[in-house]
Amino acid sequence: MRQKIVAGNWKMNNTNTESELLLKDLLSYNFPSDVRVIVSPPYTQLGFISEKLKNFNIGVASQNMHYASNGAYTGEISASMIKNSGVFITILGHSERRTYFNETDDSLKEKVNKAIKENIEIIFCVGEELNDRKSENHFEFVKSQLEKTLFIQPVASWKKIIIAYEPIWAIGTGETASPDQVQEMHSYIRKTISEKYNKSLANSVSIIYGGSVKPSNANDIFAQPDVDGGLIGGASLNSYDFAAIVNAS
Ligand code: PEP
Repeated sequence: MRQKIVAGNWKMNNTNTESELLLKDLLSYNFPSDVRVIVSPPYTQLGFISEKLKNFNIGVASQNMHYASNGAYTGEISASMIKNSGVFITILGHSERRTYFNETDDSLKEKVNKAIKENIEIIFCVGEELNDRKSENHFEFVKSQLEKTLFIQPVASWKKIIIAYEPIWAIGTGETASPDQVQEMHSYIRKTISEKYNKSLANSVSIIYGGSVKPSNANDIFAQPDVDGGLIGGASLNSYDFAAIVNAS
């Protein structure tokens, strides 16, 4: 079901103490009950943060997950390890994973398969580079990412899939896509899902936006009809800003 979602991706930030403080601050806010709030701490904190949040209405997501069940994959984390930590959501395909850790649509397809098989919900990131936008190839680029990774899934899997549109040129740069640019792409993604599957499925998928969302631009972006919330990087490390963004959704 389409729902409002605001997820904070803490990336490789925060000691345990810093994360505890951030959580304590976040828990002092009253978030609207119709917004699903999620935080995504580093792997080493998944267990204690999910434990701390077990009686609260804030979900926890992993920032990544490997496609293999176990084995010789030094430095990686498996679905069962994530679930053992009390976590049942993972981000997949973040542009930083694609850029710095060579994640490809092929490996992401395997990760999506594994997550679905393990009943883990996915926040799946797609988005174009600046060059693609300048050459007006951004729609085709995003469509191709979707086709190679998600469109292999049967209808039933989509209950577990949230799409995050994150234009790479707007991540961590302070540069945001305009609300019109965001709406245009979200509506295109929905149309593409409708063409591949059907309208009712397309209208049930939550599509969130990520890329330098701040309290000052959140209202305008979240007011767009095909935007269901945000994936927030930098601003999610500041409880005041993150709470303001949640309240704008
Ligand atoms: C992100 O990393 O998913 C992101 C959107 O980062 P930022 O908000 O810092 O641009």
